[in-house]
Amino acid sequence: MFCPKCGALLYPDGEEMKCRKCGFVRDRKERKRIVSAREEREVTVIDEKVSVLPKTQVTCPRCDHHEAYWILRQTRAADEPETRIYTCTKCGHKWREY
Ligand SMILES: [Zn+2]
Ligand SMILES: [Zn+2]
Repeated sequence: MFCPKCGALLYPDGEEMKCRKCGFVRDRKERKRIVSAREEREVTVIDEKVSVLPKTQVTCPRCDHHEAYWILRQTRAADEPETRIYTCTKCGHKWREY
């Protein structure tokens, strides 16, 4: 990590990174928070994109297409199994696996 002011190497000092040349101080905690916020945004973007969901070979009950996206949906009761929700890649029909 380098100093944004003078380009010299920063040295760790407790929770901070310090520049010995010009005295610039970077808070390492602050930097960590920025990185995790960016990661959360990326995860949200992936959730919204249907095209990145896994596909599987399954027959659509509406149009007989042989491929569908699938996701697992957790049921509220812990003793019930997860339900697999399919979305047909051709007609968009959604159904559950029982
Ligand atoms: Zn500096
Ligand atoms: Zn279909």
